[in-house]
Amino acid sequence: MQSLSRYDRQTRLPGIGQPGQDRIRQSRVAVLGCGALGTVAADILARAGVGALRLIDRDVVEWTNLQRQSLYYESDAAAGRAKAEVAAERLSQANSSVDYQPMVTDVNANNITTVLAEIDLVIDATDNFNVRFLLNDFSLRYQIPWVHGGCVGTTGQVMFFTGLGKPCFRCLVPEPPPASAIATCDTAGVLGSATHAVASLQATEAIKWITGNRDAIRTGVWSLDFWHNRSREIAIPEALSASCLACGRGELTFLDATDGHASDSTKILCGRDSVQIGAPAGRTADLITLARSWHDLGTVQTTKFFIRLTLPEELTITVFRDGRTLIDGTNDVGRAKSIHARYVGN
Ligand SMILES: [Zn+2]
Repeated sequence: MQSLSRYDRQTRLPGIGQPGQDRIRQSRVAVLGCGALGTVAADILARAGVGALRLIDRDVVEWTNLQRQSLYYESDAAAGRAKAEVAAERLSQANSSVDYQPMVTDVNANNITTVLAEIDLVIDATDNFNVRFLLNDFSLRYQIPWVHGGCVGTTGQVMFFTGLGKPCFRCLVPEPPPASAIATCDTAGVLGSATHAVASLQATEAIKWITGNRDAIRTGVWSLDFWHNRSREIAIPEALSASCLACGRGELTFLDATDGHASDSTKILCGRDSVQIGAPAGRTADLITLARSWHDLGTVQTTKFFIRLTLPEELTITVFRDGRTLIDGTNDVGRAKSIHARYVGN
């Protein structure tokens, strides 16, 4: 009875009904990025009753996240817990019948096919242009639909892509803008209610698609400014796809990484005093052995997804199961690499 009545208010909707609810139950959705957009979209989809929810994020919860990322608590920031793990834990208390699949990983051209394997639809909740272009390529190759969402300041936009092209994301934005030209939440701020609204719209488009209400899908780019009360929808001329490298000419350069788009695996993380060092291709970390070797060096924290060494000189080294290392306390790449070589090895 409990499970029969759980979705009552949803199955009453003419566009959903019991057949729609059955389709929601059979769907496998990935939420790429468990930040402001991802936590809200994941919450809506989990409560709506999707079959499987893959929660993908490379980061840990920080204090600046709590203003808008509604699945996280102060205790998560204090403990520096992995976002994907916390999100899965909280959502399982809201709807225990969903198969949650937390993945603490940095998505790149080498692993995206594995990370998004057997997924029916992807929610783009990343704040990273390279990952978004990679997702666009992935979507076109495997014909997987995705819902783009972006939010910065008090503005946001949403668009649905079928995975069949004409249009695709690259029709609109042919190349990623240089990092210096992008306003980010770290530099421009972001309104918590705006991210909730955008994520809500993304989840709405996802539910329309999953339940087979494909005529109801919004086809243009929907841009909103929540502060200045403006909204507009821009149709994308199909002609744009003729000159599109991805859906027009079939060159999936981010996925195939043939033109130098594969990003350097070592990077200074935006707005933070930390450097991330990517895992060597095809290698994962032996966390147990590493944690043992750190025993006398400082404070060692061990979780299912990562191990962390806090050194007396206020440096923190976090090694994730996927082999990636995060060094907090410096933004000097050279120093980070030497710390990595000394404590983690090559
Ligand atoms: Zn295109």
